[in-house]
Amino acid sequence: MALPTHAQIVVIGGGIIGCSTAYHLARDHHADVVLLEQGKLTSGSTWHAAGLVGQLRSSASITQVLKYSVELYKRLKEETGLDTGWKMTGCLRLATNEDRWTEFKRLATTAGSFGMEMELISPAEVKKLWPLMDVSDLVGASFLPTDGQASPSDITQSLAKGARMAGAKIHEGVTVTGFEMDGNRIVAVKTTEGTIQCETVVNCAGQWARQIGAMAGIEVPLQPVKHQYIITEKLAGLATDAATIRDPDRRTYFKEEVGGLVMGGYEPDPIAWTTGDVPGDFQFKLFDDDWDHFEQHLEQAIARVPALAETGVRQMINGPESFTPDGNFILGVAPECANMFVGAGFNAFGIASGGGAGWVLAQWAVTGEAPMDLWVVDIRRFSAMHRNREWVKERTLEAYGKHYTVAFPHEEYQSGRGVIVSPLYERLKAHGAVFGSKLGWERPNWFAPQGVEPKDVYSMGRQNWFAAVGDEHRLVREAVGIFDQSSFAKYEVSGAGAAEALNWIAANNVDREVGRLTYTQMLNSRGGIECDLTVSRLAEDLFYVVTGTGFRTHDLAWIKDHVPAGIDVSFTDVTEAFGTLSLMGPRSRDVLAAVTSTDVSNVALPFGHVRVLPIAGHQVRALRVTYVGELGWELHIPLAATGEVFDVLMTAGERFGIRPVGYRALESLRLEKGYRAWGSDITPNDNPLEAGLGWAVKLKKGAPFMGRAALEQQVGKPLKKQLATFTTVRTDVVLVGRETILRNGAFAGYLTSGGFGYTVGKPIGLGYVRNATGVDDAYLRDGSYELVVANERLAAELHLGPLYDPGNLKVKA
Ligand SMILES: Cc1cc2nc3c(=O)[nH]c(=O)nc-3n(C[C@H](O)[C@H](O)[C@H](O)COP(=O)(O)OP(=O)(O)OC[C@H]3O[C@@H](n4cnc5c(N)ncnc54)[C@H](O)[C@@H]3O)c2cc1C
Repeated sequence: MALPTHAQIVVIGGGIIGCSTAYHLARDHHADVVLLEQGKLTSGSTWHAAGLVGQLRSSASITQVLKYSVELYKRLKEETGLDTGWKMTGCLRLATNEDRWTEFKRLATTAGSFGMEMELISPAEVKKLWPLMDVSDLVGASFLPTDGQASPSDITQSLAKGARMAGAKIHEGVTVTGFEMDGNRIVAVKTTEGTIQCETVVNCAGQWARQIGAMAGIEVPLQPVKHQYIITEKLAGLATDAATIRDPDRRTYFKEEVGGLVMGGYEPDPIAWTTGDVPGDFQFKLFDDDWDHFEQHLEQAIARVPALAETGVRQMINGPESFTPDGNFILGVAPECANMFVGAGFNAFGIASGGGAGWVLAQWAVTGEAPMDLWVVDIRRFSAMHRNREWVKERTLEAYGKHYTVAFPHEEYQSGRGVIVSPLYERLKAHGAVFGSKLGWERPNWFAPQGVEPKDVYSMGRQNWFAAVGDEHRLVREAVGIFDQSSFAKYEVSGAGAAEALNWIAANNVDREVGRLTYTQMLNSRGGIECDLTVSRLAEDLFYVVTGTGFRTHDLAWIKDHVPAGIDVSFTDVTEAFGTLSLMGPRSRDVLAAVTSTDVSNVALPFGHVRVLPIAGHQVRALRVTYVGELGWELHIPLAATGEVFDVLMTAGERFGIRPVGYRALESLRLEKGYRAWGSDITPNDNPLEAGLGWAVKLKKGAPFMGRAALEQQVGKPLKKQLATFTTVRTDVVLVGRETILRNGAFAGYLTSGGFGYTVGKPIGLGYVRNATGVDDAYLRDGSYELVVANERLAAELHLGPLYDPGNLKVKA
């Protein structure tokens, strides 16, 4: 079949992801699709996958994506005539210690929150389900009955057939060699068999996705890692429908296959493959068996299933799979190139994800908008630092090694640290700072007081920093604290059309007089919240945009992508040009007034305003805004002067006991004040009306803006969900998010954030209460509430306003 000279969409890669994407593009969107595969379908990582299919993840949307995969694998044969090998065996996860058991209790709660049944069962019940297993060391197990296993090659062939049936053209033996570009757009795909003009490219090239991306100037930060499993001879007494097993404390997994077992694992010392280009001819190939390295898994597996000691090994599979620095896959449109979409880096759950990932990626590629909150897998969660191959390798290997370790709340990575430090790093260290990392930045999480080791000690209950963070919290509520927030992402938006562009993209009115600061969301076409940030007008044609550290690439890309054509506007990322110190607390004005000659009274510098203040001889942008619910300023300082300004503030604040305060106290403070966090409380799945942020939307003004039409549809109609605050009656409870909300004893939603409020002395959670026929304040007040926390029902109280409110900050003098 000759290669066409034009296609609407070219999909690169004939593994499970490419075939699923082509299938959904052709079937659901009737797109003119060409799929190119350099070898044969499945010849990359797909053919040698073990085929376990689990569904539960910590993100509701990704769980939905994985659930969709299962639904698709179940029904695909009816459509294409080709079986997928789907078997709903259920999955057992084994716990051998109390921390793991707590993790499973939380997992079971999350499953319930996301609409899945996960049972917690006793060792005796495990033994009944899986008689060949030694259960003597078990505390218990979780059982998710709808998980299962499938045949990776069969699913892929079935998807490819379905794609062809819907009109997609699939070409094997065609290698993509480059792209013809027009600025940051691909106009044609160059291949060994000719050139195809196209509108959109979807890069599903597995471990080759990085080098394909590089051909168009984009970075796909993944690392091929060697992953091994064995297939054994038959085991007497093993049922063909035996549940798949994950034995994380022994770092291994099992699945039945033709009467024997597939057994593999996630070792703490994984072996990376190349950081350079992956050879194109690595098709249907494996690495040599590495028994020395695999020994650790074998030992553990025999301890769990003693019959394995007497069972022969039919085959070892040692194949490459692409892993990523945070263990999540990579989806969406690349910030560097307007029309290359990526679906890669599947971290050994590409078979489980394949069906659903292709479904959402197809929609994203056709409409230009993610169909749901896919932030945790969005390619825009990375930044320029991820171009460093060594860094990506180190962090990826750490993430791989942690695949089966107990996931403690608040855990930080150890590798690849210290990439970006603020000028205050050494000073903060001297104050006992314990740092965390966010998008390469070292940020103080908390400060260890005298006599406390400056180090996180992780546990499932309250951790060692609990009391120290409480002291920091109280300092901000009662006097004044100083936060180093230099890692904030910051952009300058300039040009004659800057106001018009931003006012179209922002839901709030940002086209205000010079010196005004506006808190705003940016909405997608469904009215969902894509960004949550502040916009300060510094001059008629100059705006200063400040957003969260992790959203640096995402928010700038969102803004740039939605500037209406023909507008004169330009963007500069100035993140590293300014250090940021947030001076917060009732005494913050006393401190600020002592270090600047400018009047900082409420009349001269009211809430929601920005002024340039001279401090220690430097020009400092002072933004009167708060994320803690206290009087305060964000001070944006020319980077090199950050240390000097910090020193003068510390001296001026001495009489109030000023100290640096960390991000864990910030979290506690903002929860009490009910401030929403993007990515958890407010996401592309939630609109401002549901989130209680209708006051920050310019609907009444009649001005057009993105997402307006969708919100207008919603106005006057019952909301299907509404964000509320919860506290538990018991005060020793640890909330981590995703706990189930029960209203009058029935499922009503789940927490999007959880933590502890030291002023109110209670655990606090934010979460949406859902009801198909409508939710309003009366409905919320009317219910009685419980939270399911680690599988236990606890009495809870619902609050409609902030738990802590020192009064209207706008008028407070
Ligand atoms: C040992 C092992 C066990 C696994 N077990 C499981 C499991 O139990 N469950 C699970 O969910 N996942 C598992 N996985 C992971 C799973 O195999 C992958 O996540 C999945 O196959 C990735 O699919 P893909 O389509 O992204 O990549 P691939 O299958 O690698 O497909 C990419 C395709 O792109 C093609 N390509 C590359 N460059 C070009 C070019 N220039 N031109 C044209 N074509 C090109 C390649 O030839 C390749 O066929 C396992 C992986 C390994 C290694």
